[in-house]
Amino acid sequence: MNSKLLYTIIFTLIFSFLSVGQTPPASVPEASQYHDINKKYIEYIPGNLPIVISAPHGGKIVANELTTRSGCGTNEEDNNTDILIREIQKHCYAQMGGYPHIVINNLSRSKLDPNRIESVATCNNAATVPYYTAYNDFIDSATTQIIADYGKGFYIDLHGQSHTPKRIDVGYNISTSTLDSGTLSNTIEHSTIENLKNNNLQNLTLDQLVRGSQSFGQLFQTTGGTYYNTVSSGLYQQCGRSDGYRAVPSNYNTGGCNDTTPNGSSYFSGNYYSNVRHGSGDPSTSTSLSGGGSLNGGGGVIDGMMTEVNRDVRHLGSVYSGTTSYNRTDSKDPTLYYFAQDYATVIVGYIDAHYNDFTDFNYDLAIYDTTASDPTPTISGVSGGTFSSTTGLAINSNTGEIDTSASMAGNYVVTYEVGPNGFYNTTQNIEITDSTLGLESFNDKSFKLFPNPTTGILNFESNTDISYVKIHSFIGQEINTIEVNSNRSSVDLSTIENGSYLVSFYVNNQLAKTKLIIKN
Ligand SMILES: [Zn+2]
Repeated sequence: MNSKLLYTIIFTLIFSFLSVGQTPPASVPEASQYHDINKKYIEYIPGNLPIVISAPHGGKIVANELTTRSGCGTNEEDNNTDILIREIQKHCYAQMGGYPHIVINNLSRSKLDPNRIESVATCNNAATVPYYTAYNDFIDSATTQIIADYGKGFYIDLHGQSHTPKRIDVGYNISTSTLDSGTLSNTIEHSTIENLKNNNLQNLTLDQLVRGSQSFGQLFQTTGGTYYNTVSSGLYQQCGRSDGYRAVPSNYNTGGCNDTTPNGSSYFSGNYYSNVRHGSGDPSTSTSLSGGGSLNGGGGVIDGMMTEVNRDVRHLGSVYSGTTSYNRTDSKDPTLYYFAQDYATVIVGYIDAHYNDFTDFNYDLAIYDTTASDPTPTISGVSGGTFSSTTGLAINSNTGEIDTSASMAGNYVVTYEVGPNGFYNTTQNIEITDSTLGLESFNDKSFKLFPNPTTGILNFESNTDISYVKIHSFIGQEINTIEVNSNRSSVDLSTIENGSYLVSFYVNNQLAKTKLIIKN
């Protein structure tokens, strides 16, 4: 079982117990950083997964020394997104032991709207500019760290809206009209997931990434949501659903509910400053921004998306009452608690589906003899991870190099891990043979192999049943595996090149080896 699965199971068990009382999960083991520790306006909590999330519009601090924005667009608050972003981070940690980087604007939007070009964001108030700069610098710090750790990743700008129907808008800087007009052209280069389009694990098209079965929107449709759909006398339940969350664009088009396009309803397409700046759209293509100004795509290897989540997934109830928590309550059922949990699951699934080749590695062969030269695997994922093996294999934990002569004959599982608690990992089976061992080491002295040398047909027999026989070259190439399951059998080796080979017999879980000469 890989450690990710183990974590999921352990934490799901813990969660199903805790969630009865809706106990908020433990904080991540990372301290908040502030642009100015005395004025905790702009906050960064570093993470260790390949993702950064920002919340620009949930801030509550009305700083008197900063001029109130006026005539620079709306000052409307995205209620509780400042809590939601922290809870998503904590739920990720609770579920997997890893967590996203998060950046929070704690200032009221009436003082700073960091999701705009600078002149609009600060409304030309010079005193506000350092906070605007700090907010974006923190996101840049996070993406720099992600690139160092994983080589790629993605950015989510988290917002709230009150659209009807109640859905989650996922914006990629692809307009409503383009989404409505049919299959997306793969030549669109201004989308904020341009890098992902050109480099995703399943070679999906832009259209598949945006509204296919493993799109971000579709993962919301199919993840959790049981509480949301049943609570408040079914007030939030839609389309006859009992689980998941409606999201657009997604793959969902059932029962008269078409969420594959905005379909005439309100939708935020993600053509805003932060998503375009920190996403991976073509850097030579300009986007006319909602909220004023224009901006070229961010390019690079960090993709972007904007999620605008519906008001009804952000109710607190009394889960976060008290000064040890956020000390904020409302009279509704606590949908946010469950939504944050489900959002965390969606993030993990999305990374796994499209990004996670972080630990790909490969040894040239599956079998090495103790006399073979020491092999080092090729790492096609990210470097800097850790190799380990089941007991008996002498392996370098940094490079994966196997010291063949120091290893015991046997079958091993080699693991390469990257990320928190080895969250991302890949395994390869390696067999070590020992051609220096002869039949004399084998307990079953009745075993016979004949003729040896052979000119073609090779016979073997024993008093006990032989499970199988493997033949490989002395550089570890497997030539033939013969299932036997009786006490005698034969194999035709007449097509095999002349030379010396190693034969392994497996009898009653014992292994014996001998040298075989083929002279066809
Ligand atoms: Zn917003």
